[in-house]
Formats: sequence, C-alpha cells, structure tokens
Amino acid sequence: MTETDTVFGKIARGELEADLVYQDDEIVAFRDLNPQAPVHILIIPRQPIATLNDVSVADATLLGRLLQVAAQLAKQEGIAEQGYRTVINCNAQAGQTVYHLHVHLLGGRALQWPPG
Ligand code: 5GP
Repeated sequence: MTETDTVFGKIARGELEADLVYQDDEIVAFRDLNPQAPVHILIIPRQPIATLNDVSVADATLLGRLLQVAAQLAKQEGIAEQGYRTVINCNAQAGQTVYHLHVHLLGGRALQWPPG
C-alpha cells in the first residue's frame, strides 16, 4: 500500500467492506470500526488526499462539503440538537493513523474538552 492507497481508499473504491451511511460522487461516509462514542462516523473524500496539510484552494469546495455531509449525518443520527464534534487529526502528534483525509463525527454522549 502506498501513502495514497490506504484502507480508506479501498473502502471508497468498494474493495473493502464498511458500514456505509452516505455516498455520492465525491464523498463516502461510514461507521468507525473502533467507535469512541455512540455515534462515530468517518467522512472521507473519494480523492486520496493524505492529510489536511495537503489541501489547496482547489479543494475548498470539497472541504466544505465534508463538513456539510457531517452536519447532515448528525441530523440523521439524531445528535444535531444535543451536540456533536467534528475532528480532523493531522499527522502523528495529533494521532492520525490513516493517511487519507477524514473528518470524524462524534456524538451521542458528553465529550470532554480540552481533548487529550
Ligand atoms: P485517525 O486516528 O487517523 O484520525 O482515525 C482513523 C480511524 O479509522 C480510527 O478511529 C480507526 O478506528 C478507524 N479505522 C481504521 N481502520 C478502519 C477500517 O478498516 N474500517 C473502519 N470502518 N474504520 C477504520
């Protein structure tokens, strides 16, 4: 696997099974394999961007859409009113383990702040 061919790339291409909750031409969303909250969904672009450091102004619309899909899924999951968190971990010190850009959508319980 190269840096741009991760497990998330395989999920986006339908080569690896995942519990999909949303997909369109640009974006795929699926439940995290190791959920950290009652709702833990990962929203990814189909395009294999490794980290937030790798985005350019050309990706601005796509980045906006990742958050718009997160908000839509929060409503669908029934956590929009209570509250939820979106997280993008960038590189090792933030805990990024899969090098395919993804937004975590976390909710369904009280979340601590500051994060660890
Ligand atoms: P990161 O630490 O890179 O921000 O988040 C990666 C997330 O992907 C983790 O929460 C981890 O549980 C999840 N994950 C890793 N591999 C898989 C997989 O094959 N399928 C799914 N659904 N989630 C995965």
